[in-house]
Amino acid sequence: MPLKTFDEYVALAERAHGHICAGQILGLRLALYGLKLLELDDPLGKHRKRLVTFIEIDRCATDAIPVVTGCRLGKRALKFRDFGKVAATFCDLEADRAVRVVAREDAKQRAREMFPEIEDKNAQQMRAYREMPDAALFRVQWVRVRLGPEEFPGYHAPRVACAECGESISFKREVVREGRVLCRACAGERYYESLSP
Ligand SMILES: [Zn+2]
Ligand SMILES: [Zn+2]
Repeated sequence: MPLKTFDEYVALAERAHGHICAGQILGLRLALYGLKLLELDDPLGKHRKRLVTFIEIDRCATDAIPVVTGCRLGKRALKFRDFGKVAATFCDLEADRAVRVVAREDAKQRAREMFPEIEDKNAQQMRAYREMPDAALFRVQWVRVRLGPEEFPGYHAPRVACAECGESISFKREVVREGRVLCRACAGERYYESLSP
């Protein structure tokens, strides 16, 4: 299962995301560039277990990335770090190297200059982002991602129970406060308020 054509990816991204938009084109290009830099050309086949992707934003482009890499949240191969940046880091676990690819802020301006005759911004960017060279769309940074084995697919360890709410916690997500094992919600990171008695 080597890489598909760009148009095939566009069709898959449209299906996954619900519509096609400049963000999909950008996300596809970003993921393809990441794989190219890592020299991985079979992410759904023989390189399937080598790749982990970190994504730094939850926007349109985000949905296009797993279409190319096959990295999914439910497989623990897609990691979301909410930094509000159109950027992703592609980690090759086998070669032990990682590259962070960041969308360039001036790409929109470049799109305007390339296709001034296209009035619709989304259409203008979709067209330009297909054609622009990688270096005009993205900035590249080789990085080291230091993560414990509990972050990766295939990690197995017993679950522990929170001393406060009793719910089970996987993957070493528990915290210890004054000798008590707590879930992150009970330790103060709760994002919801309970309305049940
Ligand atoms: Zn979209
Ligand atoms: Zn708890």
